[in-house]
Amino acid sequence: MATSWRTTPRKRCSATRNILGCRSSCPRCCEVVVPQIRPGAQDPTWLAVVLRAEGLAPVEYPGWRSRGHGAFKDLRGVMVHHTGSDTASAASIAEGRPDLAGPLSQLHIARDGTVTVVAAGVAWHAGVGMYPWVPANMGNWHLIGIECANSGTSPSAPHRRNWPDAQYFALVRCCAAINRHLGQTSARTIGHKEYAGHAQGKWDPGAIDMDVLRSDIAVTIASAPAGTPTPRPPVPVGAYTGILLYRGSAGPQVAELQRRLRTAYAAYAGDLVVDGVYGPQTGRAVREFQRRSGGLEVDGIVGPATAAALRLRIV
Ligand SMILES: [Zn+2]
Repeated sequence: MATSWRTTPRKRCSATRNILGCRSSCPRCCEVVVPQIRPGAQDPTWLAVVLRAEGLAPVEYPGWRSRGHGAFKDLRGVMVHHTGSDTASAASIAEGRPDLAGPLSQLHIARDGTVTVVAAGVAWHAGVGMYPWVPANMGNWHLIGIECANSGTSPSAPHRRNWPDAQYFALVRCCAAINRHLGQTSARTIGHKEYAGHAQGKWDPGAIDMDVLRSDIAVTIASAPAGTPTPRPPVPVGAYTGILLYRGSAGPQVAELQRRLRTAYAAYAGDLVVDGVYGPQTGRAVREFQRRSGGLEVDGIVGPATAAALRLRIV
């Protein structure tokens, strides 16, 4: 965001010859100073639209388009953070705290997966640090920050411990939507710890293996072409509401999914191994099913809508 000042030249008022007595209602003599908030040319004022096209339903925090510490320079990617608390609100990211004025990032993701767009201008989230394609200590002016309400668990926690599915997959989709919009691969999403680990001792996002996150983002970038939002069918209620299968899931329900794909959709899933483990081969088959079905989000995740379309037997 940049604040500019439109100034009309001060002129003597021929009517009164007394400039101090003039009010701004006098068009001829008063210096009119009007603050104008305008987005910088690089500011991501497109965030809400792009996230919506990804199938997300972002909340637009009041005033987000004009909130920021000045204008972005060229956008080079995304930086992911945890807030340090499972309950940190979008308002706390927008407004900041006594020792650091907000905004503290452009996006906030709650644990229930709610994405809030809090700012389009520069936010204080990156601080000092370095990464090959980011000018040293300039992350704030080149990276869109995403703050996830999460304690981070611990620096050595395994991938996704204490990261609810809803929050994690919302994060994946936000990063994918931004990277794709900017014509970037998932390599342009980095963690704060990768940039500022050395300079500031940062370890966020905790319990996120950035390579795994990037590979999940890459799959999402590939599976939903830009500009073609897929309409979401109403989520069926009843038997399928509790269904959520994704890469890493295991058990009899996954085996049933594999059996269903293998027998009913043999054209592309005929060689699927029925082992009860949701691995890459199962993910590919699910995405192919979603792609061919139309109206489904192509994300490789079997939720209620996909399960219903598959007529998956609940076991
Ligand atoms: Zn951080």
